[in-house]
Amino acid sequence: MTKEVRVRFAPSPTGALHIGGLRTALYNYLFARKMGGKFLLRIEDTDQTRFVPGAEEYIQESLDWMGISPDESPWKPGDVGPYRQSERKASYMSYALDLIEKGHAYYAFDTAEELEAMRERLTAARVVQPQYNSITRTQMKNSLTLSPEEVKERLASGDPYVIRAKLPLKEEVRFHDLIRGWVLVHSSTLDDKVLMKSDGMPTYHLANIVDDHLMGITHVIRGEEWLPSAPLHVLLYRFFGWEDTMPQFAHLPLLLKPDGNGKLSKRDGDKLGFPVFPLNWTDPFTGEKSSGFRETGYLPDALLNFLAFLGWNPGDEREIFSLDELIEAFSIERIGKSGTKFDIAKAKWFNEHYLRSSAQEDLIAYLQQDAQAAGTTLSHEKAGAIVSLLRDRVTFPGDFWRDSQFISHAPIEFDLEVASKKWNADAATLLQAYATALESGVAAPFDGTAAKALLESTAEATGIKLGKVMQAVRLAVTGLGAGPDLMEVFAILGPQEVAKRIRFALDTLAIVD
Ligand code: GLU
Repeated sequence: MTKEVRVRFAPSPTGALHIGGLRTALYNYLFARKMGGKFLLRIEDTDQTRFVPGAEEYIQESLDWMGISPDESPWKPGDVGPYRQSERKASYMSYALDLIEKGHAYYAFDTAEELEAMRERLTAARVVQPQYNSITRTQMKNSLTLSPEEVKERLASGDPYVIRAKLPLKEEVRFHDLIRGWVLVHSSTLDDKVLMKSDGMPTYHLANIVDDHLMGITHVIRGEEWLPSAPLHVLLYRFFGWEDTMPQFAHLPLLLKPDGNGKLSKRDGDKLGFPVFPLNWTDPFTGEKSSGFRETGYLPDALLNFLAFLGWNPGDEREIFSLDELIEAFSIERIGKSGTKFDIAKAKWFNEHYLRSSAQEDLIAYLQQDAQAAGTTLSHEKAGAIVSLLRDRVTFPGDFWRDSQFISHAPIEFDLEVASKKWNADAATLLQAYATALESGVAAPFDGTAAKALLESTAEATGIKLGKVMQAVRLAVTGLGAGPDLMEVFAILGPQEVAKRIRFALDTLAIVD
């Protein structure tokens, strides 16, 4: 029997969840579902100095909104909890001590000044990357250089210390990444990373490896920014003697700014004119506000589909995938290596698709809600007609209300540029006659076809070519130079309202020629 696939998303609650993090969560979710495995969420909150209140709740709400909730998490614990590292704090020290015992880690007592002095010394000696490593550790204050008695004494007297990994001097560390293939790193380029900090908390590296092991993680799918840490992680698995159950790694390609110049960062939020966070976020310390995809009007299905394609493709031309279809089609082999540009136009395209294929009733509900919020009551029938009119022209749900303002409110002013070009005596004559015809009573139903037939017969009777005055007709009734099917607009407004608007326009607009 093959082992059950278990993957995890392991965010640190240091602020709003970045869209790249959401993609990582999505890929983990898709892989777990595809393989019939489990998707875990672990909160990596060992760095208390970076803790941001509300961040964990934000992560939970984002995943729920996207419909990719974890099978096991702090709020839905399974058998391998707790799922917050701060609550597992007590267990990490014994693992660090085990590594010391095995000769793969050591106590280091160096003060901040001593570390700084080392860096200065190395910089003066033109060492490009001064670091605490297999060479420099021999000149520092640690349990490898001090006598066992002194180490014991220092520990007993409560001297502050950290525990560092003891990396081999000359060794090629290699591992197979499911996306990148074989990765080879020479251990001389790695430093002796701190595993336990002087405050008794583990660092990310130690906690991450211990927990992945204890939680039975089979695949680590995470962003490319963690690739440089992977060789140390591979070594830690070996140091602990856990090589047999070491997870397989898959480092996802970077998300790039739209122009391809550099990584899309949290700071890009709103600066580039689009959100980079799933939900609105207010920084609890600075009060700075960032907009979210949800509040901007993106539908979760559209965002899912968009994110899935940021780095993955199904290998054919298809682009529209429901969550179930994504699960079916997903494979790590089809994730690319190179960075993917964040193309917001594509996100809009997906949103338009999903919005336009939503149920009519859902769209009516969006419109009625927005109207109500603005203090207008729209009947179900009228809202339905507006939705049908605008369905193929909207990107976001809010567009139905925004783009139908000219229906709810008669124009009080007119697009002057269009007026100066298109408003003329012929238009006025035709509109005069059309208004009179409308006022004298029209047979029900006054639908788009009836509105058009009456306009055409009026044009014929007045001898005016419709094509030449159509824009003026639109201007008179809507105040605008362009918009959706005008005859359908007339049908929604009804004959009396159209006539009233025409009368107002005839009184207001001056004829230029
Ligand atoms: N806590 C890390 C983060 O914030 C997790 C990285 C990993 O998945 O190993 O992204």
